[in-house]
Amino acid sequence: MKFVDDFRHAPSARALLAALRRDVHPGATYRLMEFCGGHTHALWRYGLQELLPPEVRMIHGPGCPVCVLPSARVDLAIALAQHESVALCTFGDLLRVPGSHRTSLLHARAAGADVRSVYSPAEALELARREPTRQVVFFAIGFETTAPATALLLEQARELGLTNFSVHCNHLLTPSAMTSILESTQVRRLAAVPIDGFVGPAHVSVVIGSRPYEHFAEEYRKPVVIAGFEPLDLLQAILMLVRQVNAGQARVENQYRRAVTREGNARAQAVVSRVFELRRTFEWRGLGTIPYSALRIREAFSDLDAEQRFPLTLPAGRENPACQCGAVLRGALAPEECPLFGTLCTPESPIGSCMVSSEGACAAHYTFGRRSRRASPPPASTEVGR
Ligand code: SF4
Repeated sequence: MKFVDDFRHAPSARALLAALRRDVHPGATYRLMEFCGGHTHALWRYGLQELLPPEVRMIHGPGCPVCVLPSARVDLAIALAQHESVALCTFGDLLRVPGSHRTSLLHARAAGADVRSVYSPAEALELARREPTRQVVFFAIGFETTAPATALLLEQARELGLTNFSVHCNHLLTPSAMTSILESTQVRRLAAVPIDGFVGPAHVSVVIGSRPYEHFAEEYRKPVVIAGFEPLDLLQAILMLVRQVNAGQARVENQYRRAVTREGNARAQAVVSRVFELRRTFEWRGLGTIPYSALRIREAFSDLDAEQRFPLTLPAGRENPACQCGAVLRGALAPEECPLFGTLCTPESPIGSCMVSSEGACAAHYTFGRRSRRASPPPASTEVGR
């Protein structure tokens, strides 16, 4: 664990916090959005949120793929699972997200649908090989991080000549969503908060590199610092953002240099572009319809595309009117400001998607916010977050 311990070193954390306190301008407000749900989780898990100077306000972004799928997509997954002969495979978090009628994939499974939870897309392929009489559908979700694995899966299925396997593609793209948060009049109409800079996604950037954010930073004049998920990564990235804001700069900086390059992973990008193309539009929960913000399967792989194999037309999804997930995902509302937070909506019994995944802002606030309010400050010799 030595490698990890280096990034949780308490004296270094205290030095970064002291530098932050020195650098923030009293009376100013630094509104920084961490796009990625992994960062939200880390901020709360390690108690960093409470250690930051009051001038720094962290705004949780829509970077949790389970949270941003609208009810209509969950309805679609449920309808697919109810299809005779289909075995629907997806990641465990999605199973508990309620659709339009407060039913979820878990409810569908309890009612007899064949729904399987997988840790890796390869398990879905293996199931198709093992059970040739079932039509195995992998309901693929995630950002640029998980898209290469799904693309490889489709190429492998093609090589194996599987006729009982298909993928329902719901992969999303990060930079277009960030642009939309800043620019889209639709998002502004829905109420969004002003943002002074972004903590850029870590795993996504390992794949796409830091370069896609350059145009975005120049065009919209917002600094971006790509950061890792450890406490020192986040504190250093926040300090770098504060310094850029103070200097009136808007550049892309890479704090996560141990994993992210400017160009990203060329092999992963190549397999994604062989298999996927851009969707013209995609609806995100809380952000509305965003142009060119998601991937679809190319025509060359249409025989493995579940959207072609099982064409479904469903009525428009209906969000629970009491749920404030949309506003939370735009950073317009803190989780605790939702009237259902911690009462009717808890991780054990979620009403909205942000309470389901551990990367969801509501789940992070509920799990770690309550704990940190109860906990006493750590002794000086302990490491951050322990
Ligand atoms: S507390 Fe529950 S209902 Fe409210 S915004 Fe969060 S997830 Fe949605």
